[in-house]
Amino acid sequence: MQEYYKESLQDPIFNIIGLAAKELSLDCYVIGGFVRDFFLKRSTAKDIDIVAIGSGIALAKKVAEMLPNQPKVSVFKNFGTAMLKHNGIELEFVGARKESYNRDSRKPIIENGTLKDDQKRRDFTINALALSLNETDFGKLLDPFDGIKDLDNKLIKTPLEPGITYSDDPLRMMRAIRFATQLNFEIQTNSLLAITDNKERMAIVSKERIIDELHKIIGSAKPSMGFQLLHETGLLHLILPELTALEGIEEIEGQKHKDNFWHTLEVVDNIALHTDDIWLRWAALLHDIGKAPTKRFDKKIGWTFHAHEFVGSKMVYKLFKRLRMPLNEHMKFVQKMVLMSSRPVVLSQNNVTDSAVRRLVFDAGDYVDDLMTLCEADITTKNPKKQKKYKNNFKIVRQKIIEVEERDHVRNFQPPITGEEIMKTFNLKPSKEIGILKDAIKEAILEGEIPNEYDPALIFMMKKGKKMGLTVSNQIT
Ligand code: ATP
Ligand code: MG
Repeated sequence: MQEYYKESLQDPIFNIIGLAAKELSLDCYVIGGFVRDFFLKRSTAKDIDIVAIGSGIALAKKVAEMLPNQPKVSVFKNFGTAMLKHNGIELEFVGARKESYNRDSRKPIIENGTLKDDQKRRDFTINALALSLNETDFGKLLDPFDGIKDLDNKLIKTPLEPGITYSDDPLRMMRAIRFATQLNFEIQTNSLLAITDNKERMAIVSKERIIDELHKIIGSAKPSMGFQLLHETGLLHLILPELTALEGIEEIEGQKHKDNFWHTLEVVDNIALHTDDIWLRWAALLHDIGKAPTKRFDKKIGWTFHAHEFVGSKMVYKLFKRLRMPLNEHMKFVQKMVLMSSRPVVLSQNNVTDSAVRRLVFDAGDYVDDLMTLCEADITTKNPKKQKKYKNNFKIVRQKIIEVEERDHVRNFQPPITGEEIMKTFNLKPSKEIGILKDAIKEAILEGEIPNEYDPALIFMMKKGKKMGLTVSNQIT
């Protein structure tokens, strides 16, 4: 049966590409993500892949020539590909190819091939679907590996023997898990076994590419699905051993602690319901990593993870560095979230005082809302009574944060009295007294002894200065 899907190719660009190919006397097809997402009714891709039976670079150049604005063509000669941007969409052109691999590299040896050769080298059957852009059979589906069937069955399957596919390019293992997570598909059993068998080959994939895929897993609706697969195949232990170290429940003298690995995955799923911020999701993923190295059993108090937040925040730096993630404000944000991750909890367990809330807002600054979102996601108790109680406590904290902030403005605290003014008032040279006074003013504000305003702060400073034995300068009095 021959099937046509012209309706997916309504964008005039597809006709133009077809015409350009005709002028060059070659055939061409749209292939990969665009076709897959059309059948899945997913929002249309930001990149479209075109395969030419011949030179992809020549086709890209011809297309650019025919477009009214004649866009620039970026040529990647080494890869035999070319890219141009049209209406905000990246069009990628490649010549159909046959690939063979060396064991020690992801870079294949390439020969020209047929469309089918090219489909064979694709990672998954659902990514090997092609639609013709040729005049004679415009819109015709070419699906030699039953990709449509796998779309219907929600199955991730490789066109070739999975052991070969994954060993050739181990990045595909991450891609399999990423697509399964994004699309809520199952990975075919043979494929899953092959990933497990080939996991060590991940060593030849660059950290950057691994992280790209990890970001996409974390950015999915239910990230735990991906982490469960990464765990099951043994990949997680190779990529993020800090997480797998959290797995397991120990029991001593009848006392157990919770399994912090599975707990963490729940937290990440929870937070995914409330934020798309990838770094806040990372924070959720890493918020408990300090618990493995700090775990102790104390005869009197049972299991403790003393200072795990501090230890965890230090581990964030090492982890980011190892995975070549940016050591910038995103990393600092994750560190801060991990470091402060227990603060609202401790606070909400006691009588929620204004001064404790002021301190929280002061320390968390602009990130206080993110921190609350993290703590709310951290509630994974299955006891409905407790769950309700914890949620309600955080509600109270959130309300107090708003009240305190309206009144005291400590979120981005600016001292009401500058160091210079302190120096002038007491006729001081730069010295430690200034720091002591500044700190005392800040403390008085956070404790609620004085409001965060100039006059009360000035009076407070004068009193405190006198107590410290400082004399007020003549110019002031
Ligand atoms: P998305 O863009 O939504 O992440 P996609 O399927 O378009 O999904 P791309 O990374 O843009 O993924 O790749 C485009 C196409 O190139 C894929 O559909 C697939 O056919 C092929 N492809 C990409 N990476 C690989 C790989 N490592 N091995 C084999 N084929 C690949
Ligand atoms: Mg794509």
